[in-house]
Amino acid sequence: MRDRFTYLSNVALSNGAYKASVIPTSDVVTDTYFRTLCEKNVCGNYGKNWMCPPDAGDINELICELHSYQYILVYQSVNTLEDSYDFEGMAEAAFKHHKLMLNVRKELENVDLKRKLFLGAGGCRLCEVCAKATGEPCRNPGKATPSLEAYGVNVSKLAESAGMKYINGVNTVTYFGAVLFDI
Ligand code: SF4
Repeated sequence: MRDRFTYLSNVALSNGAYKASVIPTSDVVTDTYFRTLCEKNVCGNYGKNWMCPPDAGDINELICELHSYQYILVYQSVNTLEDSYDFEGMAEAAFKHHKLMLNVRKELENVDLKRKLFLGAGGCRLCEVCAKATGEPCRNPGKATPSLEAYGVNVSKLAESAGMKYINGVNTVTYFGAVLFDI
């Protein structure tokens, strides 16, 4: 089992993740409170992305689904910013993290695991403009990726459980991704 976990972590690391590790899903702290944060729409994606609330699904059902998996591969990307107003750097870091998530997904999609659920950071970024914003059905339902937050995951506690830092120093930006799976 350890070898398999190491293999999964190495897939994330070899694709550019800063850190990666596998922990039991029972160690993942979730809270319906995160849905109220989404409802405040600070990111502007609420109701504008099929993989974001409210369209991502009922928070209690998603939390239940998450805890129905045995294990979770957690990985993080860390990028440097010029300063805390470096919005271009933040956007670039988000783009890089999305690429990392897509590469991890591509490599793990055909790996022999009973079930898999891929989760990313923020709303699904597969299309330049999500079809939700233009009133169309999702263009890639099989590849659309919801976020850890949509599933009610407390990402700072997730980092702690996975032996990672949630914040990695001044003028850095850290994003998380995950793959839930059953052996
Ligand atoms: S695949 Fe495209 S249309 Fe579907 S949720 Fe993602 S961004 Fe939106």
